[in-house]
Amino acid sequence: TPDALPPYLMGLNPPQRDAVEATEGPVLVLAGAGTGKTRVLTSRLAHLILTRRAQPWQILAVTFTNRAAREMRDRVAAQIGPMAQDIWLGTFHALAARLLRRHAELVGLKSTFSILDTDDQLRLLKQILQANAVDEKRWPAKLLLGTIERWKDRGLTPDKLSIDDGGETAGGRLVDLYRQYQDRLKILNACDFGDLLLHIVTIFQQHPDVLAEYHRKFRYILVDEYQDTNVVQYLWLRLLAQQSKNICCVGDDDQSIYAWRGAEIDNILKFDKDFPGAKIVRLEQNYRSTAPILAAAGHLIAHNEGRLGKTLWTDKDGGAPVKVRGVWDGSEEAREIGDEIESLQRDGHGLGSMAILVRAGFQTREFEERLLTLGVPYRVIGGLRFYERAEVRDAIAYLRLIAQPDDDLAFERIVNVPRRGIGDVALQTLHRAARGAGLSLSLAAYEVVASDELKPAARKAVSGFLTAIDRWRQLAQGLSVAELTEQILDESGYTAMWQADKSPEAPGRLENLKELVRAVEEFESLPAFLEHVSLVTERAENSQEEQITLMTLHAAKGLEFDTVFLPGWEEGVFPNQRSLDETGARGLEEERRLAYVGITRAKARAYIFHAANRRIHNQWQSLLPSRFLSELPQADIDLSAATGLAGAYRASSTETYSGASYGGGESNGDRWAARRAAPSRGPVIEGRATRLATGQSPRFQVGERVFHQKFGTGTVEIADGDKLQVSFEAAGVKHVMAAFVEKSA
Ligand code: ATP
Ligand code: MG
Repeated sequence: TPDALPPYLMGLNPPQRDAVEATEGPVLVLAGAGTGKTRVLTSRLAHLILTRRAQPWQILAVTFTNRAAREMRDRVAAQIGPMAQDIWLGTFHALAARLLRRHAELVGLKSTFSILDTDDQLRLLKQILQANAVDEKRWPAKLLLGTIERWKDRGLTPDKLSIDDGGETAGGRLVDLYRQYQDRLKILNACDFGDLLLHIVTIFQQHPDVLAEYHRKFRYILVDEYQDTNVVQYLWLRLLAQQSKNICCVGDDDQSIYAWRGAEIDNILKFDKDFPGAKIVRLEQNYRSTAPILAAAGHLIAHNEGRLGKTLWTDKDGGAPVKVRGVWDGSEEAREIGDEIESLQRDGHGLGSMAILVRAGFQTREFEERLLTLGVPYRVIGGLRFYERAEVRDAIAYLRLIAQPDDDLAFERIVNVPRRGIGDVALQTLHRAARGAGLSLSLAAYEVVASDELKPAARKAVSGFLTAIDRWRQLAQGLSVAELTEQILDESGYTAMWQADKSPEAPGRLENLKELVRAVEEFESLPAFLEHVSLVTERAENSQEEQITLMTLHAAKGLEFDTVFLPGWEEGVFPNQRSLDETGARGLEEERRLAYVGITRAKARAYIFHAANRRIHNQWQSLLPSRFLSELPQADIDLSAATGLAGAYRASSTETYSGASYGGGESNGDRWAARRAAPSRGPVIEGRATRLATGQSPRFQVGERVFHQKFGTGTVEIADGDKLQVSFEAAGVKHVMAAFVEKSA
């Protein structure tokens, strides 16, 4: 009878229960978003332990993030109590580190080995490059380290590579350098992140007795987000599961979004070859989202080729369509989202149930500013709040020092960033002088350079720094804050420092710096901007209240929210430019999977935004709506007018959009085309005209002929302050800033 069911099985549907109870032998749960894959794993842990098939410490469970591990442990603990603490549950890296401590000597390390961070790794590799007289200008250490790390992701130790695998890199010596790097690590009793798993795999391969010990120990293996495992993770799992074959992996090929970090979607596609006789469970009922949200996600992902294909359904009735909204620019987008959040709050929806999911980290800035203005508490997950990011703080430290010469914290932060030869000794001298004379550091620095307290090189460096600051301080009188910021970032070598940096984070940091310049642009004066920043950072403190979540799409994997906002769906932003520049569809398909992940995070409400204009590389650019929008099903999306210029924009954006042919599929280009044909523009223009009559007088009149550098000549159709809709003779209807057009004859 159902009454006899233990609580962890109650409420599971038949295939879910099947996946939980099929404890022996390999099981792959292959299913779409929100079908309860993670819930199956949690229930399976409870089931294995409560039916005494295994003790908690005989189970190995792998999650994708530490957070997911914590959550899973909490859920299991709710079912089985404190025993949950003893499960071997964590990320690949955490589990591997724990195992490696036990067997370090087998790969020539002591159990006390240290794990290097990226900085240490680079320093070490640089020493090796120098010792081998490798030209670092030509072959930057970061670049070489990247290749080495990718080899590690694929389970390739130097022994498994032939000299040729390094190609021409570093004069054909990369494999040899890799070997030296590994040798050095051993001497230092250290390993890097990639080594954790690689060493364990090596140990298992070379020491059958050790492997056998773990075959006896780990009776059951469980893996979440299996689609995002890389080769070495896969090898490790396969070795461990070899004997018992009790491995249960859950995943969704449509949510594979880490190929750029070495994940192999093939792992999931070939599971039943590696584990013959594997039981494949498909879950088709989605418990998370309403029907329109599911339909939107399903239609979109159907545009990818080479998928396994899955059915998804829900028994939830009704539900609002996915709202697609066109806006003029980023600030209108942030305003609209802010308004919607407040309106949802008024209707009783908590902030904790809402999220804004962006494609790239820098995109949170505009929303953060808006939320701060509105007084809506927020948190940024998987990253820092914009003004807390290191590069943003560095840049602001320059500005602070210019506005306020006595700001010692700012001085210390950037006096040697980028490196300009002002080392610890010099800094100590400055501190001593400052204390002695009761001056701030930068004032003391003037005294010190006038004396002979510093070595000539350091003295020159400090004096050069002071001169630069003085000059910027003078420039601050004449330039706009944005111009000043750009000039400082440029002349100080700060931007160049990140441009030269080949680490994976560097592009994101550069984007944040550009975003900072955009932020600064909104302020009249340097003090006004700095005041804003200090208020912004101060308000970040009280975090007890309920908060809305901001994060990247990548970080949102596995999570769910009642309401999800998806801004920035424009060609070149999402899908991003890199995927569009690439030949072949690999990158584009990964972007589409990311879009799928985004939509499927929503339980009840999804809003997608696209802006007609964005400042990219310091220039206003007109953007096309993302092709993904045309891949959504007509019946399940709502294009109803947003307020403001967006309404007017939409009428024409659809025109621009269907004008550009993306081809393919049962696209709803028809729908966009239909909207173009609809006589919606007349009334919209009238509406604008009426509003204009009461607003400020525009520099351009409707009907006026104008010229634009990029688009040529055209006729103004709508004028709203500095925003124009122009019908260009060659380029069609575009939205442009008044500042970028001139009157034409
Ligand atoms: P993703 O692919 O996004 O990781 P998932 O397949 O792991 O999703 P879960 O997060 O496990 O899905 O479940 C999605 C939601 O559905 C959760 O809120 C979960 O509690 C709920 N759920 C899962 N199975 C059932 C069920 N049988 N009955 C009711 N709710 C369920
Ligand atoms: Mg999940």
